[in-house]
Amino acid sequence: MTEPDLTRTDPRWDAFAGGPFPILLDGRLVTGNAGTGDMVAPHDRRVVGQYSIPDTAQLQAAVTSARRAVDGGEWSTCTGADRGRLLRRLGELVEQHADELAFLEAVDGGKPISGVHDNDLAVSLEALDYFAGRASYQQGTAIDTGDPLVQHRSRWEPVGVVLEILPWNGPLWTGVQRLAAILAGGNAALLKPAELASASFLRFAQLVAEAGFPAGAVQVLPGKGSVVGQALVAHPGVDLVSLTGGIETGTRILAQTAQQVKRTVLELGGKNPSLVFADADLDAAVMWTAIGGFAGTGQVCACASRVLVQRPAYEEFLQRFVAFAESFVVGDPLDPASQLGPVNGAAQWEKIWQYVETGKAESKLLTGGTSYTDPGRSAGWYIPPTVFADVDPACPVAVDEIFGPVVALTPFDDEAEAIALANDTRYGLTAGVFTSDVATAGRVSDALAAGQVFVNQWFGTGGVAIASQGYKTSGLGGAGMEKYLHHKNVFTRLA
Ligand code: NAD
Repeated sequence: MTEPDLTRTDPRWDAFAGGPFPILLDGRLVTGNAGTGDMVAPHDRRVVGQYSIPDTAQLQAAVTSARRAVDGGEWSTCTGADRGRLLRRLGELVEQHADELAFLEAVDGGKPISGVHDNDLAVSLEALDYFAGRASYQQGTAIDTGDPLVQHRSRWEPVGVVLEILPWNGPLWTGVQRLAAILAGGNAALLKPAELASASFLRFAQLVAEAGFPAGAVQVLPGKGSVVGQALVAHPGVDLVSLTGGIETGTRILAQTAQQVKRTVLELGGKNPSLVFADADLDAAVMWTAIGGFAGTGQVCACASRVLVQRPAYEEFLQRFVAFAESFVVGDPLDPASQLGPVNGAAQWEKIWQYVETGKAESKLLTGGTSYTDPGRSAGWYIPPTVFADVDPACPVAVDEIFGPVVALTPFDDEAEAIALANDTRYGLTAGVFTSDVATAGRVSDALAAGQVFVNQWFGTGGVAIASQGYKTSGLGGAGMEKYLHHKNVFTRLA
């Protein structure tokens, strides 16, 4: 990793200086005809670059090109092995440009650069490698039909043209992972990066163009959700809409796709509980829960934003948790020492402060909760790790997905109460259990209504091969590569 130059003479700033980032349309990098959008650095709220926005005719051309690609075009004649080779080539390019991509993500997304290398880029590379393999080896099944003259086989087929709408909190890794799965399955992809953070993904789009995919296989079309996103969602040439984003956006998109009975996949938010039992290794529980709560400055869908602690361990846990929260290095995302950066934008920043005020009025503030005053951080959208204790489960701080560095702690007496509190939410993305008793771990993880349960750790390991879907309003429509595929059954009479 190259040491960044915090004085902005680092040559990587040039990536923003070459005019607006182009769109990727029909295999070519071109200027969008609907003007430009600003890229704003969360570190100091400065406009650092622009991206180009496609107009209605270009969106139409993108869908036409994608349709051609899957309806008999060159892309549809590529074998799984061909698709795998292209994905591997793309992986090599991402590896070669890792420093540059990390720099763009740090500046435009406000994510600490060391974390981008360790997490976002690592996941992106792993996804390209894994789905390159899956492209070649897609297993079907055969069942015994009971009739020796009738043979069954099943196969997976591409859905066709997939619209993938990306969130701002992880534009690179969410985009790369989803794109790799879409392409491995033989679909054409229309990608709509979020207007709040797109620089890393738009640079990645240039690498896609370089990798040599047939025209129409991948198109990257940035712009506002309400304009570019909505137009693509409504387009009858799009076979599947997939969103990673907020619940309100998901609801809006579902209402639109319902009119065409269009296949829709939603990966939405979470208000994820961490359950700490009194017999847990408290140091480990504190460390994992704090990492789970504050990673990405709390702007991760899988974050541990509610912590339920069994009463005998509650006071001790509070003290150690606050000490851990205060130990995070919060600062410039370009500084390799930074562990937490600013939150992503003005609206997000204001929303989080409102929740902090509610928390102060309704529960006990243990740490954080006031703005930074030093010249560096006060210029940006920085919010210190903030911890509230004795939070009533009905308080908005314990109910809503705040998507910021705010963690709510609540005590519980017994297992039944802990499970009831944990499951009393409209979300069901992730949950954690900390205990030294395997029986408790087994019972509680089975009882938690969440797509991923972490026992004595936070965040999954096992990487991109594990497909997870949230329960309740956190997810809809399938997970992993299969969500982009049709499952066909073929019955053949042999005589
Ligand atoms: P958002 O819903 O505001 O935006 C997501 C995307 O939807 C953006 O690209 C936006 O432009 C687009 N969009 C907005 N309105 C649209 C419309 N009417 N039609 C089409 N597209 C539209 O979400 P966000 O704030 O960017 O992301 C944060 C949310 O994403 C959080 O709720 C978080 O939990 C969730 N998230 C979930 C996962 C997961 O895997 N479950 C991963 C990351 C983020």
